[in-house]
Amino acid sequence: MAVCYQLPVLALDRPVPKHVLSRRGAISFSSSSALFSPTPRHLSKRRGAISYDSADQTALFIRLLGEAKRTLSHTVSGTRVCFVFRSVSLCLLPAVSVFTSCCLSVHFLLSQCLLPVVSVFTSCCLSVYFLLLQCVLQRVGCWDFDVFLLDRLTNGNSLVSLTLHLFVHYGLIRLFQLDVVKLRRFLVCVQEDYRSHNPYHNALHAADVTQAMHCFLREPQLAETLTSCDILLGLVAAATHDLDHPGVNQRFLVQTEHHLAALYQNTSVLENHHWKSAVGLLRESGLLAHRPASERLKMEERLGSLILATDISRQNDYLSQFRCHLQSGDLRMDNANHRHFILQMAMKCADICNPCRPWRLCKLWSSKVTEEFFHQGDTERKHNMEVSPMCDRQTNSMAKIQIDFISNVVEPLFSEWSRFSATPLSRVMMGHLSANKAGWRRSLLEEAEPAKLSASS
Ligand SMILES: [Zn+2]
Repeated sequence: MAVCYQLPVLALDRPVPKHVLSRRGAISFSSSSALFSPTPRHLSKRRGAISYDSADQTALFIRLLGEAKRTLSHTVSGTRVCFVFRSVSLCLLPAVSVFTSCCLSVHFLLSQCLLPVVSVFTSCCLSVYFLLLQCVLQRVGCWDFDVFLLDRLTNGNSLVSLTLHLFVHYGLIRLFQLDVVKLRRFLVCVQEDYRSHNPYHNALHAADVTQAMHCFLREPQLAETLTSCDILLGLVAAATHDLDHPGVNQRFLVQTEHHLAALYQNTSVLENHHWKSAVGLLRESGLLAHRPASERLKMEERLGSLILATDISRQNDYLSQFRCHLQSGDLRMDNANHRHFILQMAMKCADICNPCRPWRLCKLWSSKVTEEFFHQGDTERKHNMEVSPMCDRQTNSMAKIQIDFISNVVEPLFSEWSRFSATPLSRVMMGHLSANKAGWRRSLLEEAEPAKLSASS
């Protein structure tokens, strides 16, 4: 067994700052770090892993998830636990349960006799896994990219792995001299701040939008003219554009007098919240702390304008402006304001591109968004509120919702985008859009058939 450091004993009841325990994922810091101060944090209910600086005399490696911590501290109350750095074994004092002892014996046996075999096997599995992951990520620029597959492969970490991959792909880490540890920590926080119980507005949707954004950034008119700052903001905006989405729409927040509705005066309530949450995480992670303050503020402002563009209730404003530009032919991609406007349009397209994906993916997304809508409708009915349009499962169906959404929102937007960017990708998207609409019409007819039959009999 490779034991590199024999570290001192640490009592399990050593106070660990809440703001550190409240995180999930590995956080490395020296015990003399400023992070060790008892500054309170609001991000409660997160699990955490902590690694202390091994050079520190009182340091050791701990990995305690919230649940495990409670169990351990209860079981071994009054005892002291010794963790050996870089080995996985524990030396516990006699009060340890029989079960734990058995596990340790097996582990000890394994580590003594089978470690070389296990190591080779583990290395092979990891190599195959990373090869497979690379194969999937290599297709990130394809419009039929299966983000659901990536999510399964990364055990629910598609947003982190995809965005990191794109940052490397565009060379943003080098160009902006980003600290990779801070970048990863920022992305993990972003992924964590999406609510995983939302059927649709969760981190997987953010990963899907980020992938779509990447496809648009590769379109010739954009790829040839966008600056690295445009690309960075486009990706960050896509990854954070629905941060901490509550799974209900603005109408619901206004009607229930939610504090966010009051805070943002009933205007782009959700989008303002997503933006402010994104800025909060950016500042907290210190990802851009090494950049000049004026540049950081400008980037936060532009990030806001990209996220606010996803407010569907303002779609007509953006569309009229887009049509004006296309009719007059005055869009100049060497103009920073025009480039930003095109990024806003790309952001809008990426956010609602589900009906432009191949039928299998389109159907998967549709079932998720319908589930979220109907869940809101059920809550509204339960509390005697007026049920929002599209949220009433008694008067709507998935096919009906999709046909209305495609006709009123998606088609108008993508027709103009295709005019601006008449490329093979736009033709593929419009092809899927029209085929999917026809598919939903067939579904609607099939839904109507049993109703007709039961009415006639
Ligand atoms: Zn969205």
